[in-house]
Amino acid sequence: MFEMIASPVKVAHLLMGNKIGPGATVIDATVGNGYDTLFLAEAVGVVGRVYGFDIQAEAIENTKLRLLKEGLLERVLLFHEGHENLAHRVTENIDGIMFNLGYLPGGDHRVITKPSTTIMALEGALKLLKPGGLATVVVYPGHEGGADEAQALDEYVAHLPKNTYSCVKITFVNRSRRSPYVLAIEKAQ
Ligand code: SAM
Repeated sequence: MFEMIASPVKVAHLLMGNKIGPGATVIDATVGNGYDTLFLAEAVGVVGRVYGFDIQAEAIENTKLRLLKEGLLERVLLFHEGHENLAHRVTENIDGIMFNLGYLPGGDHRVITKPSTTIMALEGALKLLKPGGLATVVVYPGHEGGADEAQALDEYVAHLPKNTYSCVKITFVNRSRRSPYVLAIEKAQ
């Protein structure tokens, strides 16, 4: 068992957990089964706010139930809608945003995030990010369509202006070349 860097999701939580705290405003761009949403809802505290997006009703329902069970639903606004629309739904600036791409574990594996909408959402989110804010993206090149999305994202992030955004790619170097990795983008203060 690994404690600190067991998985890309864990790495993304480590980074985001160091950035946000009570009172933060954040987005979970892909709520799925609600694990990331729960992590964010705990981190932002009673006065913080989490916006969550997913295109699948099942994901919204799973997330709602998870938050209800933990008594944290009132901190979270869930949208059964694509994250490409986030700029229309979130009108305040944000401290952080998390993307966890690919398909819903335990759900329909044919419903996946897509390069064009993921990049549209990331672009919109970067505009909403406060100075010093952080975006994390867990990228899955291993499933069908995943490699195209990974390539498009790598290219998009590589071209972000270096004086405004500091971008890293965190890969697990002793795992398969197609194993998931993290992109993290911090906006300058
Ligand atoms: N963060 C989740 C968790 O903690 O359980 C896991 C997310 S899962 C890997 C990816 C999710 O992205 C799926 O639930 C899928 O429905 C969702 N998704 C796919 N396209 C989307 C889009 N355009 N906007 C928002 N969510 C999308």
